[in-house]
Amino acid sequence: MLDVKNVTKKYGKTIACNDLSFHLDPGSMTVLLGPNGAGKSTIMKSIIGFLKYSGEITVNGLVNKTTEARRILGYVPEIPALYPNLTVNEHMEFLARAYKMQDYKGRIEELFKRFELDDKRKKFGDELSKGMQQKLNLCLGLLPEPKVLLLDEPMIGLDPHAIKELKNVIEEMRSEGKTLLVSTHIIDSVDMLWDRTIIMQNGSICANVTKSELEAAGKTLEELFFEVTEGVDERAVSEAAGEDEAGEKGEK
Ligand code: ADP
Repeated sequence: MLDVKNVTKKYGKTIACNDLSFHLDPGSMTVLLGPNGAGKSTIMKSIIGFLKYSGEITVNGLVNKTTEARRILGYVPEIPALYPNLTVNEHMEFLARAYKMQDYKGRIEELFKRFELDDKRKKFGDELSKGMQQKLNLCLGLLPEPKVLLLDEPMIGLDPHAIKELKNVIEEMRSEGKTLLVSTHIIDSVDMLWDRTIIMQNGSICANVTKSELEAAGKTLEELFFEVTEGVDERAVSEAAGEDEAGEKGEK
């Protein structure tokens, strides 16, 4: 469903993604794991078509930057990009119209209920708490019912109810045949249903295994993570273990 072939992205002299190639199947959930600065956000932004890169990315055989591909690609960015002067409801309406969705009102109601936003629908973007912004960010990503959904660090800032609901949504989408790619730098947040893990470090893929391959090898995800990243970059490994949450995010 999603094919990434020899994708390289440089920011000046920094090689954020170095010749990445991978394939994701329909009806699968892939965890993109790696410490801060590994290149996870960059490959997601490349897939969604926000960045220029070398290499080839196709979704369902369509080049990712075509209108047809954009219709089936969805993205939940790590940092919500909301309009301060639009209400929660207006954000959803705006997106539904941009996607030329029909009969979207019921879908909006369902998402508001699931993520407990129904009593916030008249609040403006800049009146929302960080957690509320993140919930609206998620609802906006889910509204068009994309066939391929990329979620960049989606658990950050969510309350336990929203995390549980998000995990339910991911499982439902997976069973409906959708393709999911979820990035995280916190191994413990990946206790949900996943089929494949791609571990990134310093812009490169250092492991790409299915859950059954990992189980057959008798390893946990954490063991694999440290096996493939240890010694490569000690600072990044300690960040991934949760010792330094600040990381490089502030540099963007
Ligand atoms: P991750 O999502 O895994 O934390 P990123 O993809 O955000 O990693 O970053 C990969 C590398 O690219 C890092 O070294 C980061 O500092 C750099 N980088 C990311 N965005 C930019 C940018 N807009 N300009 C310059 N460098 C960037």
